[in-house]
Amino acid sequence: METDRPVADILMDVQARIAAACAKAGRRLDDVEVIGVTKTHGPDVVREAWDAGVRLFGENKVQEAAWKIPASVSGPSWHLIGHLQRNKVRPALGLFSVIHSVDSVRLIEQLERVADECGHRPEILLEVNVSGESSKDGLKPEQVPEVIEVALGCRSLTLTGLMTMAPFSPDPELSRPFFARLRACRDRWERAFAIGLPNLSMGMSNDYEVAVEEGATWVRLGTVLFGHRPVWRPQREDTERWEP
Ligand SMILES: *Cc1c(COP(=O)(O)O)cnc(C)c1O
Repeated sequence: METDRPVADILMDVQARIAAACAKAGRRLDDVEVIGVTKTHGPDVVREAWDAGVRLFGENKVQEAAWKIPASVSGPSWHLIGHLQRNKVRPALGLFSVIHSVDSVRLIEQLERVADECGHRPEILLEVNVSGESSKDGLKPEQVPEVIEVALGCRSLTLTGLMTMAPFSPDPELSRPFFARLRACRDRWERAFAIGLPNLSMGMSNDYEVAVEEGATWVRLGTVLFGHRPVWRPQREDTERWEP
């Protein structure tokens, strides 16, 4: 893995690949943004990526983000990309401006209640399980219209798009049908509800070029930018600083 190369160098390669994928699909480069996924990495890595030009950062655990974000450079927009439990909504809303992993009506209702109470105005995406894999989080496509209905009735939440995870495969082409399916769902629900759902959060280190060809606007990149992840061991002080 390219752990020794500066993030700025790797990011240039990644941006070139994104540009090529955009050209192939007739898309504008401006419509695709990299989310640097810093889970298991420390504030030093956030700093390096920020200095390299990364502006959006993703974390998958509220508890980890709760110490890391205050310890990191200020300025990034932080995105929660991992599963959110309802009992962690309060700290999550204090940390993240975008929640990619909204997957139930009950979670939306809790988000709306706490956001309203605390004056937060988060953007939300609905996580859709387009592969049908039972191990994956996310809504089944047929459940989504009901959830959109509820989201549209929330005054503190803004629904701006959809997120998915393709089943892991070493061959990125195998992810393509799932990304295409998410985009088709998006197009259908935009028409059905007469709304815009501009954000498609799809594609990770192994399949982001294919995701861009299929319409991704946010690619979530960890390993390709930052190398293999160290095992995450919370420090005592980190846990103490965290209040649910
Ligand atoms: C870890 C993670 C990523 C980044 O994965 P890489 O393969 O390291 O790029 C993207 N999305 C989610 C939801 C993740 O948990």
